[in-house]
This record gives sequence, structure tokens and C-alpha cells, in this order.
Amino acid sequence: MANRDIITIGASAGGVEALIKLVAALPADLPASVFIVQHTAPESRGELVPLTCSECGGPLWQIKDDKMTRFRCRVGHAYTAKTLANELTDAVERSLWVAVQMMDERVRTLERLADTEQTKDRRRSAASFHDKATETREHTERLRQLLLSLNQ
Ligand SMILES: [Zn+2]
Repeated sequence: MANRDIITIGASAGGVEALIKLVAALPADLPASVFIVQHTAPESRGELVPLTCSECGGPLWQIKDDKMTRFRCRVGHAYTAKTLANELTDAVERSLWVAVQMMDERVRTLERLADTEQTKDRRRSAASFHDKATETREHTERLRQLLLSLNQ
């Protein structure tokens, strides 16, 4: 076997996100073996998993016992697999509703710009803003209908 370099990376329990970013940025053809060492709290009863708590953003530990799989963050927020999945879905849904609000605002801005250009008799520019507003309104409405259908 040829000589290979060894890279050892150490992190504390709160370093999960930094480790994920660091490892993702390593080149696929890195001519070295990488070892990762992570400190965990002595009272930790589970396995540190690459997920974050939706309430505080901290790292999550997966705790398995005979009955069920649970997740707990350092602060104490606790989830079952089902409630964790629901929390993640809710977080994505909240972000998409924010996107809908931002797209509505963009439509209003584009319509205002179209009106301004129209009053200055700049018809091509007004038509361009109007077309962008129409397209954005259509995308927004599709997203809004999708989100509304999720809760029916
Ligand atoms: Zn938490």
C-alpha cells in the first residue's frame, strides 16, 4: 500500500454543522484519509445525528430504547421520529408561505413600476414590467394553491 496522509479533525458536540460544511467542501480526490473525532457530553445517552433541533437549531441526539426512537437536543427539546418529521415539514411550509408573501410583494412592486412607466409613456418598459408581474403572479398562485392543498 502506498503512503497516505492522515487528516484528523476534532470538534465539540456543537460542531456538527461546521463538520458537515467542512467535509462537503473536501475534494473527492483528496489524497488523504480523514478521521473525525467529536466530543460528546458524558450525560449524552444517544448517538449524535446530522440533524438540528427545529426549535433552537442545536444538534440532536438519537436515543433508541426498546419501545421507540426519540431525538433530544442539548437544551431538552424532545421529539419522536413522527413529531420530528412533522416539525421539519412545518418549517418548510412556513418558509414557503414567506416566499409567497415575498412574491406577492414583488408583483405589487412590478405593477407599480409598470404604472409609473406607463404614465411616462414608456410603453415597452411598462409592458416588460407588466409581463414580469403577470408571470410572477401565476407562479405565486400555483405555490399558494399547493400550500393550501397540503392542509385539506
Ligand atoms: Zn432544541
